[in-house]
Amino acid sequence: MMTTPRTTLTRSLRKPSFFLAFLIVCSAFWSPCFLRAQATTPSPKLSVHWEELTASDFREGIHRSQGTCLLPFGILEKHGPHLPLGTDLLDVRYAALHAAEQEYAVVFPEYYFGQIAEARHEPGTMAYSRNLQLALLQETTDEMARNGCKKILIVNGHGGNDSLLPFFAQTQLDKPHDYVVYVFDERTPQHGGPAKKTKIDMHAGESETSKMMISRPDTVHQDRAANESGADQARQKLPEDVYTGIWWYTRFPNHYSGDGSAATHELGEYQMNWWIDSVVKAIRAVKADDVSLKLQNEFYEKSTHPLDTQP
Ligand SMILES: [Zn+2]
Repeated sequence: MMTTPRTTLTRSLRKPSFFLAFLIVCSAFWSPCFLRAQATTPSPKLSVHWEELTASDFREGIHRSQGTCLLPFGILEKHGPHLPLGTDLLDVRYAALHAAEQEYAVVFPEYYFGQIAEARHEPGTMAYSRNLQLALLQETTDEMARNGCKKILIVNGHGGNDSLLPFFAQTQLDKPHDYVVYVFDERTPQHGGPAKKTKIDMHAGESETSKMMISRPDTVHQDRAANESGADQARQKLPEDVYTGIWWYTRFPNHYSGDGSAATHELGEYQMNWWIDSVVKAIRAVKADDVSLKLQNEFYEKSTHPLDTQP
């Protein structure tokens, strides 16, 4: 990487003694000296964790990530009888942190303030109000952007957020922002890997339990997975294209969908690797995207005088 030696050099130039020595040595052999400085300065390892960086390392992290930051989004909710409340948070952070290690990005700390009204009847659920979910997320991304995160990739770890996050992204068009919100909302591959044994597998089931066997095996109590039923109780008689907020409770009142006892380490390894690879690809695509912010700005400008917009 060319960026790191240059920054290290810039920092040492701020100290007078270094600067003087640099001038004396390099006055005679300017070009070889400069090249040697670049060749021998090792690239310092930067943490991908926002909270672990010093202020000056944070500046370097934003530079190295080209302003790309991840916001892994979890939740606190019951996960069957056998997985911890923070399953989605633990899993999504595992995937996002490993992805950022491969393709550098600054990763925001634990965030779990999402949509989970449907689990308010279960112990340990933290269900923030609708307005607060949106306001807190907006202030969080605004503050991230003020600190240089001009491309914010929300990596969603919780199925209950799958309406909230596209809605949040859409509402970024309400007024100008100098950054772009991207949402990545996949956690499980549709095909490939070890054959699955269960058909219903939506929450704390075979896939999710398998992934937790990779990210935090010490928190998985697989021997308890069959203590409750994760079967679809199908109690609501409505056509599929008619939506109600109570739909989940009508089908899975134990907040368990599937059978975690079918989980295996092999399935978890396959799915977690797929997830990490997918986030790496998303980070690379976001870094390469030079269109969204440009067109977002064009859109904001045009939206101030819509009568002038011509086909
Ligand atoms: Zn989950």
